Amino acid sequence: MLDTGLKILLVASEVAPFAKTGGLADVAGSLPKALLLQGNDVRVVLPRYRSISGFNTIGDFPVQVGPRKETCIVRTSQIEAKSPEGVRFVPVYFLDNYHYFDRERYYMFPDEAERFAFFDLACLKMCEALNFIPDVVHCNDWQTGFIPLLIKERARNNPVWEGVASCFTIHNLRYQGNFPRDVLYLLGLGQEYFHPEAVEFYGQVSFMKAGIMYADVINTVSVTYSREIQTPEYGEGLDGVLRKRAKDLYGIINGINYHEFDPKTDPRIFKNFGPDDLEVRKENKYALQREVGLPISDKPLIGVVSRLVDQKGLDILLEAMPSILSLDVEFILLGTGDKFYEEAFSALKKRYPDRVAVFIGFNGVLAQRIYAGSDIFVMPSRFEPCGLGHLIAMRYGSIPIVRKTGGLRDTVMDYDRDSGTGNGFVFEEYSAEALTEAVRRAVSVYRDAGYWQRLVRDTMGLDFSWNKSAALYTELYLEALGRKRRVERPA
Ligand code: ADP
Repeated sequence: MLDTGLKILLVASEVAPFAKTGGLADVAGSLPKALLLQGNDVRVVLPRYRSISGFNTIGDFPVQVGPRKETCIVRTSQIEAKSPEGVRFVPVYFLDNYHYFDRERYYMFPDEAERFAFFDLACLKMCEALNFIPDVVHCNDWQTGFIPLLIKERARNNPVWEGVASCFTIHNLRYQGNFPRDVLYLLGLGQEYFHPEAVEFYGQVSFMKAGIMYADVINTVSVTYSREIQTPEYGEGLDGVLRKRAKDLYGIINGINYHEFDPKTDPRIFKNFGPDDLEVRKENKYALQREVGLPISDKPLIGVVSRLVDQKGLDILLEAMPSILSLDVEFILLGTGDKFYEEAFSALKKRYPDRVAVFIGFNGVLAQRIYAGSDIFVMPSRFEPCGLGHLIAMRYGSIPIVRKTGGLRDTVMDYDRDSGTGNGFVFEEYSAEALTEAVRRAVSVYRDAGYWQRLVRDTMGLDFSWNKSAALYTELYLEALGRKRRVERPA
């Protein structure tokens, strides 16, 4: 095991269990525990949203955001990291500012650029105020994109920052944080950065591009996605910039937290079970059917837990639904997102009330019950940086059907009945027909109970924990320290 003793600050706009809308929160809440158990001094920082309350204040300082002088209050909590040696704790810092973050949701406000400019600036000032200067700042997604450049700028006047390296992780390239150019002024950066070789992106300033340009190392959350985003098809306009930094661009697959997501102990599911008591698993299926108003039966139960957005392949899923339902299956979906999909799936439930259950909303308990009670978990994504839903599903014995893209491609191997190899069903072409065909194959194996049980048991035994990936992150941080660059200001 690596025991590098690095000081790491992980920065993210959402961290489970404090604030979560998607997979980023899971990663930001679970990777630090694994890094801690590998001997690092790791701490986590996120905004203090309205839904986060009741934590102690440990300090405050002013932050200049363009013309505004704002106060940042630091509150603190911790994340528990259990290991065979006992319990340890990751310190968590919440950056609190009433004006920017005391609001009813996390994102999508007209002053989004200013909110996260404040956050990026405040992260550096917090390190100085707490006298915690990390070896590596690990930034995640566009909300943290200016931190690598701010570190380099800060190092010009304050030598404590000279030794600090940055790592920028792209969890989803689609969300880029592109805003009018005055955001540079808010960040205290000169207009010389408004340049195609710097952070200008089609007439705007891009937080995502800033992270890609100035971090010492960059990574995405699977090897396949790290390659895909260097092509025009998946590059979201940034493929050229990514190709330029190809030698500093890595892919590390996400893990899931094996303590939180453990069917043997998870208090959210009806009855705990392991790979060797699949009869108990079945009781979870019946209980789920009862809870959501589906007929209690042994028909294959297909589950979906997803943000309802274009990326997730919901158009082909909707198109395929009549054919899928003709295979004599039951279907349950939990999700929230675009109105169009919310309405389309609600209409589907009206049309097939005895075979389809649909829940619009975010519900962590129901999500776990779907993982534990469904037989098959569908993720037909158009693109998928890593994907966590299918990893959680596998741990709970729900067999994934996935499209061959990004992290789905790296973690699911197509099942072959003859050799018994594989852990799911994979299709490649982005079409309702290809998806239906994969469901048909899965259902046909399901009807052969002996094969199916073996597949479920073997899949539940696979290791998608953070152990391996956290060690890869530690190596990546060392790379970042080795590649630390001085950045010349654009002329
Ligand atoms: P993404 O980050 O693109 O949303 P991932 O598969 O990486 O997709 O992560 C999704 C995470 O969010 C999983 O933990 C999943 O269980 C959870 N999730 C998604 N939608 C919901 C929902 N409506 N209710 C509860 N949990 C959800």
